[in-house]
Amino acid sequence: MIEDLIKPNIKALKAYTIDAPPCSIRLDANESPYGFPLGALKIAINRYPDPEAAALRKVLAGKWGVEPECVLHGNGSDELIYYLLTAVGGPVLIPAPTFSMYRIIADSLGENTIMVALDGQFDLDMEAMLAAIGRHNPKLIFLSRPNNPTGNSFTCEKVLEVIENAGGLVIVDEAYQPFSPRGDSFIDLLPRYRNLLVMRTLSKIGLAALRLGFIVGDKAIIGAINKVRLPYNVNSLSQAAALGILKDEKSIDACIVNIKDERDRLFMELSKLKAIKPYSSDANFILFKLQNNASVTADALYKKLIADDILIKKLAGGGASGAPGPLDNCFRVTVGTPKENAAFIMSMKKITGGSLK
Ligand code: PMP
Repeated sequence: MIEDLIKPNIKALKAYTIDAPPCSIRLDANESPYGFPLGALKIAINRYPDPEAAALRKVLAGKWGVEPECVLHGNGSDELIYYLLTAVGGPVLIPAPTFSMYRIIADSLGENTIMVALDGQFDLDMEAMLAAIGRHNPKLIFLSRPNNPTGNSFTCEKVLEVIENAGGLVIVDEAYQPFSPRGDSFIDLLPRYRNLLVMRTLSKIGLAALRLGFIVGDKAIIGAINKVRLPYNVNSLSQAAALGILKDEKSIDACIVNIKDERDRLFMELSKLKAIKPYSSDANFILFKLQNNASVTADALYKKLIADDILIKKLAGGGASGAPGPLDNCFRVTVGTPKENAAFIMSMKKITGGSLK
């Protein structure tokens, strides 16, 4: 059979599908609701892109206070996760629940993954983490901080303890760091730890279409991972567009401030609804759980929101060893514009019976 040519670990995989009914209010993918004007891009489209994305890496290295050689560029941070797993391999330690691509890419490359459940507050369970580090000596540990989809930031001291106890590389994925009220970044700690890498993306701050992600870390490690990078992984349009938009730091920052304010307002509004429990968030989204005694099921809530032209992300499972898990009956809603958020709240009130706590 021709299908038997496919590796068994790939056959066993479920494709990463994105469920996106055509709603006009899209609060499902942690995108920014605000875009930026592209302007006129002067690009020689008959030429390959700059393989090193040198100008862009220089600008970002300057912002992050590191040397350009400490920055590796990817076609989104998804690609960089792939490169890390290709260059370093497993075992890979991943907390659960977290961003699903760490596991999906590790599985697709046939690497051994160890999932460790987060504690009741969605923070790192240090006893379990240190036990797993001791037992498996993972070569890679992925920590999303703030964590997707739970929205919280793992306690800084706990992350430091993981870095200090790990024999392998610890990747602190700061995709949502710009929205963190703390404003703390592990980039500042890079000089202290050679085994620390920080991952960043421009996707969440309004440039998702460009597919631009970065790893920041030790020059030698960055150089080694760079060996598996495909030659022209970031196209010329994305490089030029990002360079233009990044010059307007004021506009980018204003959008971030607006999203943070709206997140806090959205959280307050969601807290008033009796049918759900929202979790406080340091990111541009909010996780909430439908209460057992709610008058509507999770399926019905999802479908009714779609009928109101609003798409959010429905979650399930999320445990270290599959379903059932802490994300059962949970949803993740991305912070939209004030108007979108108001429409979402209104629809939620209507669907869940509107009763307030
Ligand atoms: N890391 C985390 C924690 C994410 O949530 C996402 C996107 N949802 C990514 C990385 C991937 O981002 P990118 O668009 O840069 O591939």
